[in-house]
Amino acid sequence: MSFYWAEADDALGGLVPARLTEPVSPHLRCMKGTATKPVRCIALEGEVGKRVSCSIYSQRPSTCREFDVLEADGSPNPRCAALRAESFSL
Ligand code: SF4
Repeated sequence: MSFYWAEADDALGGLVPARLTEPVSPHLRCMKGTATKPVRCIALEGEVGKRVSCSIYSQRPSTCREFDVLEADGSPNPRCAALRAESFSL
């Protein structure tokens, strides 16, 4: 889950805490913990399958902001379920 490097707070106007990110390419970064398996974002708090939350919710990258847990009709996003299933199988 990469995003444009300038979203990090060490760039002018960025919000994502840079200390929680790592470079993917000259123009992209990702959240630490999301580039290798098992995937676990450094900003995720709690236990998957029980109760989790994002410790930087108001500062999360655009990639996270654009990923809805629910579809437009209110049904669960199947991609979310697939990602959860993947994290349980690791
Ligand atoms: S929403 Fe928060 S915890 Fe989830 S991947 Fe994004 S930054 Fe990490």
